[in-house]
Amino acid sequence: MSRLSIVLPAYNEELMVGKTCKVLKEELEKAGIAYELVLVDDGSKDHTWEEIKKAGFKDANVVGIHFSRNFGKEAAICAGLAQAEGDVVAVMDCDLQHPPETLLQMYALWQKGYEVIEGVKLSRGKESVLHKECAGFFYGIMSKATGIDMKNASDFKMMDRKVVDSILSMPERNMFFRAESAWVGYKTTTVGFYVQEREAGESKWSTWSLIKYAFTNIVAFTTVPLQFVTIAGAACFLCSLVLLIYSLVQFFGGRAVEGYTTTLIVLLMIGSAVMLSLGIIGYYIAKIYEEVKKRPRYIVSKILRGTGEQQQ
Ligand code: UDP
Ligand code: MG
Repeated sequence: MSRLSIVLPAYNEELMVGKTCKVLKEELEKAGIAYELVLVDDGSKDHTWEEIKKAGFKDANVVGIHFSRNFGKEAAICAGLAQAEGDVVAVMDCDLQHPPETLLQMYALWQKGYEVIEGVKLSRGKESVLHKECAGFFYGIMSKATGIDMKNASDFKMMDRKVVDSILSMPERNMFFRAESAWVGYKTTTVGFYVQEREAGESKWSTWSLIKYAFTNIVAFTTVPLQFVTIAGAACFLCSLVLLIYSLVQFFGGRAVEGYTTTLIVLLMIGSAVMLSLGIIGYYIAKIYEEVKKRPRYIVSKILRGTGEQQQ
C-alpha cells in the first residue's frame, strides 16, 4: 500500500503543532490513507520542539527534524522532503490555513496518475492592499521567468516520489520551492482552495520581509533584472543619440547649444543609472558568492523518528 508523507515547516508554532497533527491524523485515518507527518522545527524560539515530541509520543507516524537555528521556510521544506519516505509527498503549512480536505482531493488526483498537484489560492485571506499589489507584481515576473502561470501559487502541493527526487537533485542553495516544483515539469494539475483563517499564533511575514523574499527569489530564479539593466542602458543611449543629433543640427545652423543645466541633469541621470545597474549586477555576484561557498542549506541538530530523539 502506498504511503503519504506530509511535510510541515513550523516556526514558533507551539500553539498549532498538536492541533494540526490531531486533525491530520483523524482525516487521514478516516480516509484509510497510510501516512507520515514530517514536522520541521525551523529553529523556533518557543516550545515547538517539545510539542513535536509530544505529538511523536501520541502518534508513531510523526517524524521530527530540529534545526540548529532559523534557516527559513524554504530550507525547512527542503529538509522535510529529504527525510520523507512516502511514495507521494505533500507540503503544507503547519497552521491549518491549508485545508486538510483539499489534501484528500490532491491524493485522489495522484491516484488518477497526476504527478504534481498544485494548490492554487481561490482567496488570499487577510492581506493589505500593498501586500496584494506586491504579490501580483512579483508573480508576474516569476510567471514570465518560468513560463507557468504562478498567480495565486502557494507552497501547498502534492508530488510523486519521482518529482521529489528531481527537486532534491537541484544543487542550488537559494531554492524557491514554488517555482522549482513547476520548473521540473511532470504531469501537473491544480486544485483550488480557500485560505483559512489562522486559529492561533501569528504570521511570520511582514510586508518588508516579503519584499526582500520576492527580490531574492527573482534573482535566484531569473535574469529579468539584468535584462532590465540592458534595456535601461539602451534607452539612455538612444536618448543621448537624439540629443547629439539635435546639438549638431543646432551647431551647423549657427547657434551654439546652451544648457549648463541639461548637461548636469544628463550626467546625473547616467551616473545614477550606472550605480543602479552596478547594484543589480552586484546582487547577482553576491548570490554567486553564496552558491560557490557551498555551505549546507540547513543544519539539523536533532531528529525524532519512531523510537525516540537522536542527536545529529
Ligand atoms: N515558517 C517556517 N520558517 C519561517 C517562517 C515560517 O518554517 O522562517 C512556517 C510557518 O511555521 C508556517 C508556514 O511556514 O507553517 C507559513 O508561515 P506563516 O503562516 O507565518 O505565513 P502566512 O500563512 O502568513 O503566509
Ligand atoms: Mg499561515
